[in-house]
Amino acid sequence: MTLLEVNNLKTYFETSQGLYKAVDGTTFDLDYGEALGLVGESGCGKTTCALSITRLLPKEGKIHGGEIFLEGTNLVKLGDDEIRARRWKDVSIIFQGAMNALNPVMKIGDQIAEAVVLHEKVSKRSGIKRAEELFELVEMPKKRINNYPHEFSGGMKQRAMIAMALACNPKIVIGDEPTTALDVMVQAQILNLLEKLRRELRMGLILITHDLSILAETCDKIAVMYAGKIVEIGTIEDIFERTAHPYTERLISCFPNVGKEKIIPPGIDGVPPNLLEPIKGCSFYPRCHKALPICSHVEPESRNLGGKHFASCHLSGEVSHEQ
Ligand code: SF4
Repeated sequence: MTLLEVNNLKTYFETSQGLYKAVDGTTFDLDYGEALGLVGESGCGKTTCALSITRLLPKEGKIHGGEIFLEGTNLVKLGDDEIRARRWKDVSIIFQGAMNALNPVMKIGDQIAEAVVLHEKVSKRSGIKRAEELFELVEMPKKRINNYPHEFSGGMKQRAMIAMALACNPKIVIGDEPTTALDVMVQAQILNLLEKLRRELRMGLILITHDLSILAETCDKIAVMYAGKIVEIGTIEDIFERTAHPYTERLISCFPNVGKEKIIPPGIDGVPPNLLEPIKGCSFYPRCHKALPICSHVEPESRNLGGKHFASCHLSGEVSHEQ
């Protein structure tokens, strides 16, 4: 059984100006021990996808269509109490800047133990023991559970947040820009840690980022999101070596190649479409350097390009993938 299947997910926000279609027909899956990178510019729907899976949407946001199967159970159909009971055990999430959410006047171990006691209904003593185990899992000395947040560096606080996310042995961990606030060296250490944990614990990992370059080392596959949809999805090789969508091409060109000639990467001209307005044709058409006349009025369908490589572009045809 597949661990997670997201089928044609549609999550919209009710605003005073109308329905904002933040996620509008997104489909992907994730297996045990697999890591998926969700990448795209700000506002493309990545975080809304994560909030839909965890059912942590703000009250203006609603799932209008689609299914989210976790080990065969459709999370969309679960009531609030059922989802509350399963959250953190099934799926946990590490938010961007989450380390700043630690309570400054409470020992870190007590904060982790509190989460364990709340969700696992165990004694405080068991919660503290679990906090010690989790600290060892995220490669920190267990005695540091007695420290306060101000005694930790940014990287250590983020390790503590990862420990908290793992408190109830979730099947899936979602990291929403989990390393954005950290310097490059610490960022690499945290990504390596997440990578190691998902292999050891066989948990699914979804890494959300606007930075395609960090996914190549960490993920098995990448989904590129644009205007609420996945426009290309495939393995690392599919995305970097058999790039099929012009938007993916542009994203790749935005990051300098380590070791190669130092050039300032260009941004992507133009802005994403307003998701309050209906979109005619391809959503990337106004910014696309390869647009055809058909692109202005016919929306491209998602096409299989071989294996698990899919892209939504009128230019993408069947390609043969050497196995
Ligand atoms: Fe560009 Fe057309 Fe492909 Fe859209 S469908 S990405 S506009 S070539």
